[in-house]
Amino acid sequence: MIDQPDSAENFILAYGGRTRCRRCAAKCKSTQERCRAPAMAGRRVCRLHGGKSTGPRSDEGRSRCAGAKTVHGRETREVRRKRAIALAELRQIEEIGFECGLLEGRRSPGPKPR
Ligand SMILES: [Zn+2]
Repeated sequence: MIDQPDSAENFILAYGGRTRCRRCAAKCKSTQERCRAPAMAGRRVCRLHGGKSTGPRSDEGRSRCAGAKTVHGRETREVRRKRAIALAELRQIEEIGFECGLLEGRRSPGPKPR
């Protein structure tokens, strides 16, 4: 994956050095080397690595794509949203405990849930 999009290794010269274009960001699975083809215009990968893909268009296609990418379905956006709400409530209860003197010492680690 590209870390610095404007670094020199992300560009190659094509058409005998007459044009400078973005290099494909795909990595070969067998050699672990980066693809040497130019990326398609407005894309970050070449035509062989999905540059021609328009992605799923229809609702049926989007649902098939989501089904193919779902590993187990236990970690969804809804589950994460509910967990964040529960952690925010727990944090408020913890703050009340500290204010009342029921709790002492360290507070729970991690960022404050929103
Ligand atoms: Zn490529």
